[in-house]
Amino acid sequence: MDDTRFGTRDKRGNWRPDAPLRVGPLPDFPWSARRVLVWLPGYLLPWNLAFFMLSGALWFGMTPGRETLQTLAPGWIALIFLRNSALVLALFGALELRLYIRRRQGSRFKYNGAFPADKPSDTFLFRSQAKDNVLRTFVSGLPIWTAYEAGLLWAWANGYGPWALWGEHPLWLGVFALILPLLHELHFYAIHRMIHIPVLYRLVHSVHHNSVNPSPWSSLSMHPVEHLLYWSGSLIHLLLPSHPLLAIYHLQTAGIGAVIGHIGFDKIETGPESGFDTHAYAHYLHHKYFEVNYADGGLPLDKWMGTWHDGTPEGDRKMQERFRRKKESRGG
Ligand SMILES: [Zn+2]
Ligand SMILES: [Zn+2]
Repeated sequence: MDDTRFGTRDKRGNWRPDAPLRVGPLPDFPWSARRVLVWLPGYLLPWNLAFFMLSGALWFGMTPGRETLQTLAPGWIALIFLRNSALVLALFGALELRLYIRRRQGSRFKYNGAFPADKPSDTFLFRSQAKDNVLRTFVSGLPIWTAYEAGLLWAWANGYGPWALWGEHPLWLGVFALILPLLHELHFYAIHRMIHIPVLYRLVHSVHHNSVNPSPWSSLSMHPVEHLLYWSGSLIHLLLPSHPLLAIYHLQTAGIGAVIGHIGFDKIETGPESGFDTHAYAHYLHHKYFEVNYADGGLPLDKWMGTWHDGTPEGDRKMQERFRRKKESRGG
C-alpha cells in the first residue's frame, strides 16, 4: 500500500499521517449526536470490541468456578498468570514478529524511520530494547496484573464488594462496559501526570520512556511501581456495582490493550490494498515528545489542559511555543 497517499515522510524517514488526530466528542456541549455516531465505530473497532469478546471468552471458558475462587490458592492463580502471559505473548509477539522482526511491511506507515533492533543501546538490559522490554513485562508486569485479577475474583467469590448480576442490572452493566475504556483512560491520565512529576519520573516512569521508539514489547515495560499504579484502576470494581466479566475486561483493556499505543505503525497492512488503523499515533507522540498526549484523546483531557498534539505541523508549532514559554518562565 502506498503510505504517501495517507501521510508524509520526512528526510529522516519518519512518517506522519496527514489527517489530524481528533479527541472524542462525548464531553463536548452542545452535545452532537452526529459527531458521537461518527466517532463511535473507531472507539469500538477494532480494539475495544475485540477485548470485550476476548474477556467474555476468558470469563466463561478460562476462569475457575466460584467455589475455587473463594480460597486464594497457587493453582488457579498460576492458571490466571499463564493465560494472561499466553495472551500477551500471542498478541505482542505476533505484532512484533510481523512488523519488527520479519518487517513484512517495511517502513510503510511507520512513524519512526528506524527499527529499535538496528540501534543497540546501553539504556537497555542486554543492550536490547526488545529483551529489556520482554523481561520487564513478564517479571513484574504479569505478576502484578495477576495479583489484581486474583484479588478481584476472590473478592467477588466471597461477596466482598457491590457485585451485580446481568439479569438484574443489564442497563447499568451495559453502560459500565461501554464507558470502561474511558474510565481506564481517565485513571491512566491521572497516574500518568503524577509520574511525570520530576522525582517520580526519574525513579519510576523513565523506565517506560527509555523506549523512545516504542515497539509492541514496550507496552508493559514499566517500573514495578508503575505496574502497581497502572492496574489499580481496576479497584473501581470494588466501589461501583460490577461483574467479574467487567473486571476482567478492565484488566485486559489495561494489559493487552496497552499495545495499541506502542505498535509504531499507523496501519497494519492486511493485503496489497487493505489494512486497518491502529490508533497508535497519539501515544507515539508522547514517547517522542514526552510532555504531550498524556492520555489518548478518547476523552479530551489533554485538550483541556493544553497538552494535546494532533500530529500536524500546526500541532508541532503549538508544542514548541508551549515548551518555549515553559523554559522562559523557569529561566525568569
Ligand atoms: Zn507508552
Ligand atoms: Zn509518560
